[in-house]
Amino acid sequence: MRFLVDLHTHTVASDHAYSTINDYVLQAQKNGIAMFATTDHGPDVPDAPHPWHFGNLRVIPHVVDNIAILRGVEANLRADGTIDLEDYILDRLDIVLAGFHPSLDPTTEAEHTEIVKKVIASGKVDIITHLGNPKYPVDIRAVCECAKEHNVAIELNSSSGINTRFGSHDNCVKVAKMANEVGNIIALGSDAHVCYFLGNFKEAEQVIEEAGIRYDKVINTSPMKVLDFLESRGHKPIESLHNLFTLY
Ligand SMILES: [Zn+2]
Ligand SMILES: [Zn+2]
Repeated sequence: MRFLVDLHTHTVASDHAYSTINDYVLQAQKNGIAMFATTDHGPDVPDAPHPWHFGNLRVIPHVVDNIAILRGVEANLRADGTIDLEDYILDRLDIVLAGFHPSLDPTTEAEHTEIVKKVIASGKVDIITHLGNPKYPVDIRAVCECAKEHNVAIELNSSSGINTRFGSHDNCVKVAKMANEVGNIIALGSDAHVCYFLGNFKEAEQVIEEAGIRYDKVINTSPMKVLDFLESRGHKPIESLHNLFTLY
């Protein structure tokens, strides 16, 4: 297994996803994933959980049967360049993803680009998800450069073009090439909506290969790389995970 961390998964808390946290833990034990982030959709999309879902994620242990769990969200980008969870909830989370979803009607490339740049500059988001979605075109160079400046990671999404967002592949390769050129932090997410897809990075690996990116450039190769990145973003160190991964 090249990648030990999956940074993007959905549980039954999002109505169009079909597995529980425990299903993901069992699957991780089977397929060698050491750490995963649980990142259900922010409240702006109709199938999302109530904001309290995110406020109470702290009851989920960071380590279950030797599998590490990061408590997170995949928030929605709004037209005004904000996201859909309040700061006091965001502050409780280990990881914050955000991306374009149908809660926002697509407009123009220029407007999409401004929205993402504003969200990146807000400092509230660690990873921008599925930037290659052709429904929400952006100025890829401008977004990658902004993300570099603000130490925000660019996701290569392994469901795009496979399970959803069909027609993303070529755009995703462009995003990957640009992220590599600009020197962005690159993060992978399976975007699993069922536990059996946890750690399925086939599409992302294809994108990485076509873009000519070295695998060790991706933070998912090591749980410690991910924890270091999140700490560099201002998240508090998670002691139980440091203890778990000192041997990695
Ligand atoms: Zn998404
Ligand atoms: Zn997702």
